[in-house]
Amino acid sequence: MSTRLRVAVETPQHSGLGQPLDYSSEQPLQSGTLVRVPLGRRDVAGIVWPGPPADAPLAELRAVTAALQALPPLGPAWCELVEFAATYYQRGVGEVALAVLPPELRKLDDAQLANRIAKLEKRLAAEAGASTAPARPALSADQAAALDALARWTAEGGAPTVLLHGVTGSGKTEVYLRAAEQALAAGRQALVLVPEINLTPQLEARFAERFAGRTIVSQHSALTPAQRLRHWLAAHLGRADLVLGTRLAVFASMPRLGLIVVDEEHDPSYKQQEGARYSARDLAVYRGKREGVPVLLGSATPSLESWQHANSGRYRRLGLPSRIGGGVLPAVRLVDMNMLPKSRGVTTTLSPPLVDALQQRIARGEQSLVFLNRRGYAPVLHCGDCGWKSSCAHCSAWRVFHKLDRTLRCHHCGFTERVPRACPDCGNLDIAPIGRGTERLEEQLGAVLQDANGQPARIARIDADSTRLKGSLEAQLGAVHAGDVDVLVGTQMVTKGHDFRRITLVAAVNPDSALFSSDFRAPERLFALLMQAAGRAGRDAEHAARSEMWVQTWHPQHALYGALRRHDFEAFAASQLKEREMAGLPPYSHLAMMRADARTPEAARAFLQAAAELAATLPGAEAVTVYPPVPLHIARVADVERMQMLVESPSRVALQRFLALWLPSLHGLRNDRKGAEQRILRWAVDVDPLSI
Ligand code: ADP
Ligand code: ZN
Ligand code: ZN
Repeated sequence: MSTRLRVAVETPQHSGLGQPLDYSSEQPLQSGTLVRVPLGRRDVAGIVWPGPPADAPLAELRAVTAALQALPPLGPAWCELVEFAATYYQRGVGEVALAVLPPELRKLDDAQLANRIAKLEKRLAAEAGASTAPARPALSADQAAALDALARWTAEGGAPTVLLHGVTGSGKTEVYLRAAEQALAAGRQALVLVPEINLTPQLEARFAERFAGRTIVSQHSALTPAQRLRHWLAAHLGRADLVLGTRLAVFASMPRLGLIVVDEEHDPSYKQQEGARYSARDLAVYRGKREGVPVLLGSATPSLESWQHANSGRYRRLGLPSRIGGGVLPAVRLVDMNMLPKSRGVTTTLSPPLVDALQQRIARGEQSLVFLNRRGYAPVLHCGDCGWKSSCAHCSAWRVFHKLDRTLRCHHCGFTERVPRACPDCGNLDIAPIGRGTERLEEQLGAVLQDANGQPARIARIDADSTRLKGSLEAQLGAVHAGDVDVLVGTQMVTKGHDFRRITLVAAVNPDSALFSSDFRAPERLFALLMQAAGRAGRDAEHAARSEMWVQTWHPQHALYGALRRHDFEAFAASQLKEREMAGLPPYSHLAMMRADARTPEAARAFLQAAAELAATLPGAEAVTVYPPVPLHIARVADVERMQMLVESPSRVALQRFLALWLPSLHGLRNDRKGAEQRILRWAVDVDPLSI
């Protein structure tokens, strides 16, 4: 007896088929079962999807070709999470579902999968050790109060979303550990999300130490396909007690979920930037509500969205206002760069007072961290005679000068060449770097800093270039922790999360540019970055009193720096929220960004204009504003011209309704155009975009 069922399959991106398709099956299959089905002339992976199929005659339906019965079906809550994400972010259900499952699942047949599961069970049985009672620090009063409140709200049954606002070093992680302990004690699983893959080993170590004898798995993109499958299975089978991971892990299948933690909830890396552009933080909140599980969002500098939700009462708020051990936050010192004597042609430099301060730390055997958000030696090479600059042939961007391997590298498309000996346009031998990146900063610091014996200071650099090799980041961090480094130079990579114990000075060399960015979120991001960076100093209460954060700036009067000096997140948030409210920006309005890529800017613009004209004819169009198309900040990357168009509405629901009507009609628009030059390459919408 055949039955009808719905199957979510990965349909081609612009086919316009986002919903599950109907199939027939010889045997009844539970929803959430992995299957293989024919699609066109291919045989593809799919998932039996909840919900009634249409009433089509059975004979017209194609049949499921195989079912993975060895795998327990994905639960209804998981399917709902995926369906919500697909609907909200305007993608296909099957596309999202299959993108968030381990790719290995698609390759295995039922027997192979049964075999993998058996092996995993064996492995887990072998690993299972006796759990020893771990040493736990006594909670601070603030931590205890936070955990009490969390337990009380959870007992009330509200599945609260809790914003844990704790200054850097206030012991947020201990709160996560205790909350997870309670969830595990109740027989549940805990999901802990972190923004950066680099931070997972550190956190994993802390959880592993605390939860000896429990099964902890990680989920992030650096795992091998086999590891990824194993970790995923351990969670799905309910065998893993703790799942730690980056944004993708929000989709971990966990049948006994009891707690979700989102650490550094403000971090932009929670937003997926391609495919379904989901926010793992926002999905975590949805998931917690759906599964009746508390969600703990932690940060020293919460996103203004979350802060506003806490203000309005939608989220609960908990605070950890002081550092563990009573250490004070570092004193913030602003260096007014306008007051420095102008040296010829050099605009940004290391100010003498900062150099002195660094020198003093070295003399005392303390460490410093100096950061600059630009890797390479110099952002551009320049010929003073004819004006030539090291532009990229494929992008509207400069190629960065990397001195170590003497290359010019485009950080957008990767186009790399050896540095020319002379100006390619006029032959002038004297081409010079303008500006500075971390490589140059490292060199300059090396030239001016010495230890007490007149030996050059030990300087280490951590950025995407210096950590390309596997294990090199760990080795470099190890050297810092071991005290083998006097000054650590780096990009924002070093400002997050790391628990450096001996750093007493943190310096931002040139952070001003974000003050005047056209992106309305730039100040929020800069403030968070500087607060996080400051948080790396004086983490050892013993050194806290003499730890400092230095900021070199041309705009020392700026309100952002004023709030930073006072470590006053609340004042900063209040003033930003007021500005956002007056300007009608998020969280007081809701945005979607429509983007089109083409070979010519005209083609991209024409597509967006046609889309805008179509938008105006739709019901509900009066509730949204569609702004004119503009090129992206870097308009051309790898010979592709990129244009975007902002869509805004005061109502999230109205925006969602509008998008659901508008987007399907755009598939036709795309096919209308003739000729490669006039056609667009792709379009995509980003709901709740993070960078504008
Ligand atoms: P945050 O995540 O808020 O920046 P951490 O959780 O890393 O802070 O805590 C900072 C330091 O304080 C860590 O070294 C941690 O081990 C320690 N710590 C946290 N809670 C306590 C406590 N209750 N007693 C003693 N030390 C603690
Ligand atoms: Zn020249
Ligand atoms: Zn390029």
